[in-house]
Amino acid sequence: MGDGPKRVWVVACQHSGETMASWWMEGALDCLLDPTDPVGVALRAEAQVHLVPIVNIDGAFRGNLRGSAAGVDLNRQWHAPDPAIAPEVACVLAAMDKTGCDLSLDVHGDETLPHVFVDGCDQDPVATAAQVAGVRRFEAALLAASPAFQTAVGYPPTYGGDAAPGMCNRALGRRFGAIGLTLEMPFHDSLETPDPIAGWSPEASRRMGRASLEAILNTVRAG
Ligand SMILES: [Zn+2]
Repeated sequence: MGDGPKRVWVVACQHSGETMASWWMEGALDCLLDPTDPVGVALRAEAQVHLVPIVNIDGAFRGNLRGSAAGVDLNRQWHAPDPAIAPEVACVLAAMDKTGCDLSLDVHGDETLPHVFVDGCDQDPVATAAQVAGVRRFEAALLAASPAFQTAVGYPPTYGGDAAPGMCNRALGRRFGAIGLTLEMPFHDSLETPDPIAGWSPEASRRMGRASLEAILNTVRAG
């Protein structure tokens, strides 16, 4: 969607049981498809936005939480996807190679932390100053766009860098020089915006979809 100069890729449900990512995607698509939504209209003017709603289609069909049909964690395959083992990633990466990628967002749910947080390619030891600045811009913009987002709690730095070169945000950062981002949402609830009845709900995920697009818009505009 869109015809602007920047190339934005958003992928969701590499881990097929993280259904909050599907609701996130519905909120993002509603925003992009609404001709009266200023965020969607502006982002489509700034960028081509490519969205892959469910990367791990066979895993979703089988009811897997994380693994693909071949039994692999697709979010550890992006540095060198073998089409025989991870055809889902090889296919999406081939499409990315045709367009390039300035910013990528990979949408997930985290089973343990009761927060919405970002893990970015800034954790990679080879990240450039521009990539680190891009991750910081996205975080600042998402803080402004959503009361549910926070930056105090997230994965420890030891989770980053060369420990996980096959993670989408690291690998796309290295391959394209992209601002590589992973967004994590909680399974149970967010301590920043607790809902004692519904917890972290489909509606909360939808709202985070739109807020994330607003943050992407601010990030690609500044870059
Ligand atoms: Zn995940």
